[in-house]
Amino acid sequence: MTNWLEIDLGAIVNNYHELEQMAERPVMAVVKANAYGHGLETVAQALSEAGAAWLAVARFEEASKLRKAWIETDTLVLGYTDPQWAIPAAVDHIRLTVFDRETASTYSQLVSQRGMTLKVHVKVETGMNRIGVPADEAGAFIAWLHELPGIEVEGLFTHFACADDPQPGENDPTRRQIALFEGALSEVEKAGLRPAWVHASNSAGILNYPQARYDLVRAGIALYGLHPSPQTQLPVAFRPALAWKCRLSAVKHVPAGAGISYNHRYITQAEESIGTIPVGYADGFRRRLGNHVLVRGKIAPVVGTICMDQCMLQLDQIPQAQAGDEVVLIGEQNGIRRSAEDLAAEWGTINYEVTCAAAARLPRFYINSSSI
Ligand SMILES: *Cc1c(COP(=O)(O)O)cnc(C)c1O
Repeated sequence: MTNWLEIDLGAIVNNYHELEQMAERPVMAVVKANAYGHGLETVAQALSEAGAAWLAVARFEEASKLRKAWIETDTLVLGYTDPQWAIPAAVDHIRLTVFDRETASTYSQLVSQRGMTLKVHVKVETGMNRIGVPADEAGAFIAWLHELPGIEVEGLFTHFACADDPQPGENDPTRRQIALFEGALSEVEKAGLRPAWVHASNSAGILNYPQARYDLVRAGIALYGLHPSPQTQLPVAFRPALAWKCRLSAVKHVPAGAGISYNHRYITQAEESIGTIPVGYADGFRRRLGNHVLVRGKIAPVVGTICMDQCMLQLDQIPQAQAGDEVVLIGEQNGIRRSAEDLAAEWGTINYEVTCAAAARLPRFYINSSSI
């Protein structure tokens, strides 16, 4: 093995149970984007076996992959679905999100012609300004949907924009979102049309807004043991599931004044020990200067431009390093940890982007910490 991910399904299942206990509700496990890089089918299978009532994905194609892997757990597509998938969705009992009349009536025509029923969840716009029917139109929209042949309204939901960053007082954007959602929900209830599943909270919402848990909660980042944000950290019982490792492919002594990698953006100051690892930007390792990795339990700087499939390390502080040594990009080595959050901070981004960027070509090895 040269460059691989180790994914602890035991940690994911542990985190799932922690969330279930905290929320006292069913947890919709969000496995979009290849389960945040952790591997769609394997993670979804483990969560289904652990009792997850619901799965959620961003796109129809992801839901379809679950069904092809014989994972039959109720699944919601959170984003827009082209009407070409309405019939396959009805066949596979995949729930679609609806938020406009034109698309909903196209779905209705397609499935009702075949005598089928499509279950849908209505997305309400409360402050993300991404997709959703305006909160004050949700009641009328659901009443209208109820008259459409072949459509069954099973859910009503919204999504928080700022739940990871609570503000004091009534100007808190999430509290405003909750108030708008409550308004929409009471309109729907007054009409006697409350769907079976009302939901709003993402991971940060579960932690910061217990009043917004409704019938189920939707958790992504917390399932993987990653903090929703620096301000909203997970309790200690959560465990990160993903480690990213590789092996040193070469170590050499390079004379002073030598240029390292493309465009010679690093020049050796003296004779330096330079290592090579088989990790590049095509694996999801950001092409920027200033990355770090662990070698023999010590932090080693990445030097020079990151290539597509390889990059170089400065190993002067780690003279024992030799080809074949394990290198850790995310995970623990000799008691030292590099987290997805550390990498995200170096990259000026969020942990979500770090693990989602882990390329499909990386081999994923699954372990189960509860059974070792
Ligand atoms: C991605 C997503 C989630 C999960 O968010 P986390 O912050 O990862 O918990 C929940 N709901 C919707 C609509 C999403 O798009």
